[in-house]
Amino acid sequence: MPPRFKVAITDFLDHSPDAELEILGDLARVECLCAQHEEELAGRIEDADAVMIYHCLRFTAKSIERLKQCKLIVRCGVGYDNVDHAAARARGIPVANVPDYGTEEVADSAIGMALSLARGISLLNSRLRAGGDDWSYSHAAPLPRLRGRVFAVIGLGRIGSAAALRAKALGMDVAYYDPYAPDGRDKSLGIRRVEALDDLLASAHIVSLHCPLTSETRHLINAQTLEKMPQGSYLVNTSRGGVVDTSAVPATIASGRLAGAAIDVLEHEPPAADDPLIAAWRDPRHPAHHRLIVNPHAAFYCVQGLTDMRVKGAEACRRALLGLPLRNVVN
Ligand code: NAD
Repeated sequence: MPPRFKVAITDFLDHSPDAELEILGDLARVECLCAQHEEELAGRIEDADAVMIYHCLRFTAKSIERLKQCKLIVRCGVGYDNVDHAAARARGIPVANVPDYGTEEVADSAIGMALSLARGISLLNSRLRAGGDDWSYSHAAPLPRLRGRVFAVIGLGRIGSAAALRAKALGMDVAYYDPYAPDGRDKSLGIRRVEALDDLLASAHIVSLHCPLTSETRHLINAQTLEKMPQGSYLVNTSRGGVVDTSAVPATIASGRLAGAAIDVLEHEPPAADDPLIAAWRDPRHPAHHRLIVNPHAAFYCVQGLTDMRVKGAEACRRALLGLPLRNVVN
């Protein structure tokens, strides 16, 4: 007998859904739609009983209207800002995310980027490769000792907490701003809570962003808030591109306010060639050239994490198809 249900994977996966079929194969046929744009989903998702969506497209009310019998939309990842979850709620369709497939990797990447900036590693490497410099540490000078300096976490959720513990192990003074974190996380992690964002920024040696992209956090870090950070501080963004107005970053580095920035995520991915941050990063004459690290939204990536993301997404669909209690519903 053919499987009763259909699960549609809208984007990202362009090969056979073997990991998903292992979990869903007795219940559902699984179709990889490989769409780059939402419009390509028309006529292909209407009969889906569950939808798995990655990060390559937006899933707006237009797509949600098309769903006739969908029991669950799974955003296979943490951030669900590309799914109109309010529209889904209005139609009674739950949206769940996969919150824990890459917590440790993103925290590792944030700390890796922070160390690479604050220990002068990427700056020296980049200058040496460009040639013309003497063989000397002095091009990274002055580099202050990290021990005791403030590692500022914005958004103390899963990843922010994991990054905080790693920074604590480095001997840094870890402080955080998170208006929605319940009382007591500071006590359990042995770090400091700061009530006002401006106070945290003003004391930070390294700011590491770990909040979601919401209407409140869009461009939370911009030309004005960057000015609140001390001269010679660092910015690391592994959260969502839209949390930082990156057009302000090159000038803030040129002024010396920021000594460097590491950007894993951008508002538009992949970025346009004339994106001001990308242009400065590529331009060997720009003062920010050696002081920027740019990665292609890679902080989550490791072999095992990618499998976890697919398996956990498929398991969520299985629970929905069988009518079992759902987990990680965000709407
Ligand atoms: P989480 O939900 O566990 O934590 C987010 C925290 O941000 C919460 O504690 C929340 O209270 C806080 N927050 C919400 N609004 C805030 C605000 N206005 N100011 C400060 N804090 C605020 O999420 P997580 O699993 O820790 O993920 C954090 C971020 O990392 C998300 O944006 C996610 O999209 C991103 N992420 C990036 C990658 C990558 O590859 N770069 C991978 C996974 C997740």
